[in-house]
Amino acid sequence: MPQDSYFNHKIETLPRDQIEDNKSRLLRQTIDYVYQNSHFYKDRFRQMGIRPENVRSIKDLQSKGFFSTKEDLRQTYPFGLLAVPLHQVAEMHATSGTTGTPTLALHTEGDLDNWGEICARSLVMSGLTKNDVFQITPSLGMFSGGFGFYHGARRVGATVVPSSAGFSKRQIQFMMDFGTTMLSAIVSYAFRLAEIAQEMGIDLRKQTKVRKGVFGSETWSREMKKRLANTWDMEPFDIYGFTEMYGPGMGNDCRVHDGLHIWEDHFFVEIVDPKTGEEIGPEEEGELVITTLSKEAMPLIRYRTHDISSLLDSPSCDCKRTHRRYEEIRARSDDMLKVSGVSFWPSQLETVLLKENEIGSEYRIKISRTNSIDKMTIEVESREKIFDDAKKDLLTRNLSKALRDVLLFSPEVILVEPNSLPRVEAGKAQRVIDDRKKA
Ligand SMILES: [Zn+2]
Repeated sequence: MPQDSYFNHKIETLPRDQIEDNKSRLLRQTIDYVYQNSHFYKDRFRQMGIRPENVRSIKDLQSKGFFSTKEDLRQTYPFGLLAVPLHQVAEMHATSGTTGTPTLALHTEGDLDNWGEICARSLVMSGLTKNDVFQITPSLGMFSGGFGFYHGARRVGATVVPSSAGFSKRQIQFMMDFGTTMLSAIVSYAFRLAEIAQEMGIDLRKQTKVRKGVFGSETWSREMKKRLANTWDMEPFDIYGFTEMYGPGMGNDCRVHDGLHIWEDHFFVEIVDPKTGEEIGPEEEGELVITTLSKEAMPLIRYRTHDISSLLDSPSCDCKRTHRRYEEIRARSDDMLKVSGVSFWPSQLETVLLKENEIGSEYRIKISRTNSIDKMTIEVESREKIFDDAKKDLLTRNLSKALRDVLLFSPEVILVEPNSLPRVEAGKAQRVIDDRKKA
């Protein structure tokens, strides 16, 4: 096991009681700050009978049921949550807005400094050093992914290759020409790059130096992580973040790979029941709710992330970091599927599918409804082309049976040839097609 290294040893290993003290102090400061500087919060606090001087701890906000949501960001688009004059905004990012009005993230110089700091901590946690050649494949544009990695890696002092999204053959070529040692990507794109390399006749494991990678933006199962490690012969790390706050770097998994540390000097994290909004205890699954503790341009108070996770009970970790850990994101609360009366996350199916060695890493879940009856079909690629019909039948039957254990019903499984399902060259993979929503 390699020696642990840290970007900011003192803060990353701060004793728990000091972390808790700082969190409480920063929370109170943040509440004062938003009340003074943001019409949105001032109005909302008044409506809900919240007086900043009475907020001593998070419990005082919990008891009032105070939350902020993505809907608040949409309704106040573009600058309704801005807490500084516009000229103090140094950089802005936006979500793609494919499902409606985009949501903006606004950053002052100070915010960018903090983003660089937390992302540097996360990247060092993932093994980045100043001697690495670090290739950034998420897009460097309005999407915050590429820029988070950029700000963080520059801080670490690595050699940055900001290749951005798309142009997959060129990405592989750069990797070989520049001797890339560490990759950042959306998970599904890392698999896409592996396919392109194969088409080009390049063995990534032997012909590139990429042995570390940091991945975010999509939920992925531990099975998918194992596959990725094997495909690239690399150690993959899970990085967390979302545009509305910063982007990647808010949390990261360490070499122990048992949950992600979230930087508690910048974020106050809670888990709530997604239905009732009530706080729930450690080790119990619920929705991550995060309050920013250092954000100047656009602080968010008890922001509902829709990300499903659970806080680990024990704060101590073999990597010596003391910041709280939470389980890797299992799903987005909006992703929960209900088919024939059974509720489940797509990631549960992914875990079952990828345990089967002969199955590739791409799949599609299609759901339709005829005469009030749900029908679910799962298309999965085989890893290699299978010519033997009997073998195909057996594999399909086995998968359907294994899926029944999760679903309580047997979905139709269709085995398709390798590389036959659509791929995404930039952005997140679309693996669920629910036609019932169109009806
Ligand atoms: Zn750790």
